[in-house]
Amino acid sequence: MKLKQTGFLIALVFGLIVSACTDDMGPLDDNGPVISESSQGAIQMTNNGAARRMIVVFKEGADLEAQGQKLRGFGVATLSKLNKIHAISAMIPEHANSVLLNDPSILRIDEDVIVSIKKKPDGVGKPPKDEPDEPDNQQTPYGITLINADGLANTGSGVNVAVFDTGIDYNHPDLAANVKGGINTINTKKSYKDDNGHGTHVSGTIAALDNSEGVVGVAPQANLYGVKVLDRSGSGYLSDIIEGLEWAEVNGIDVINMSLSTDSDIQSFEDAVDYACNSAGIVIVCAAGNDGTTVDYPAAYASTIAISAIDSTYAVPYWSNIGKPIDFAAPGVGIKSTWLKGKYNTISGTSMSSPHAAGIAALAVAANSSATPAHIMSIMVSHADYIGSLTSNQQGNGVVDASAGL
Ligand code: CA
Repeated sequence: MKLKQTGFLIALVFGLIVSACTDDMGPLDDNGPVISESSQGAIQMTNNGAARRMIVVFKEGADLEAQGQKLRGFGVATLSKLNKIHAISAMIPEHANSVLLNDPSILRIDEDVIVSIKKKPDGVGKPPKDEPDEPDNQQTPYGITLINADGLANTGSGVNVAVFDTGIDYNHPDLAANVKGGINTINTKKSYKDDNGHGTHVSGTIAALDNSEGVVGVAPQANLYGVKVLDRSGSGYLSDIIEGLEWAEVNGIDVINMSLSTDSDIQSFEDAVDYACNSAGIVIVCAAGNDGTTVDYPAAYASTIAISAIDSTYAVPYWSNIGKPIDFAAPGVGIKSTWLKGKYNTISGTSMSSPHAAGIAALAVAANSSATPAHIMSIMVSHADYIGSLTSNQQGNGVVDASAGL
């Protein structure tokens, strides 16, 4: 954590430099560095004294403590240790590049890319300009009914689901009883309280309470954990997501929802999700992305479950990313769920589809508590509903179905 603290201050300084020399950055965030809303590549730092935020990957067995000291000796500001992938995230000044490239203990240096909530080209899925809805008598959102998750005996009780997102409004009356903990990996001294709304919305689709108000989730008694890896503009660094994966591994998380993505294929990201899935036994469900192109990362990695969007008529919206990596489709158009300050909102995106599938995964885990992620995947496949009017690039194995939790 000491590493993190030093780096945070330095990153903040560089963040301010960024805001002075780019034209597409997000708002100043009180949780950490200023970061660009662009999801492409690492932050550009082209002014004098340029430093880039990178992930330095060492050969297996490296002593990260000693390597961190060595990096600092080269004028590198270290940010955090990423133990499972033998790496350290760091701000690397240009003058240190050649030294690091010739260091035999370093395997690779990856960009610490920006990962974000993907906004759709036409702004569909952005929080509506209207005020969010006030609470009302509980209604079952159409998505819950469409995947046959309405009124089940299996409620996902005892399953730990982590929402890697902008946080969770843990005081929301339709969520609070299910929220059991979390972490803010952007700044570990701050809480994981949601300052955007997106993470709260995702959380409600997974596990809003079956009570008298608002909405109901797919797995209304699952335990929710907020892993705040995205700032209030909906963007975050890959290294903070990798830190969140390590937190999930030591905290007994069964299922992770990642309604976030990047176009960049980064080996450190793939290695980190592979470890969480294959070694830590966590089912990782990811949104495919919303730019109407191929499937983004991490959804496109083999160890994660990639989810595309359908609407209430089983049509795939033009903005849903599709392709061979898609594993399942799930409702993602006009989804009502929980929002900040105890309210509710109806929004669209594969960000809304992924939590339907994560909820189904939670039901499957509840019914098969010792199953591996591969086994949970095969259960979900055998219960999915293949839609004849859709291609397999659009729906993968079909629309997720709650019978996977029988
Ligand atoms: Ca409710």
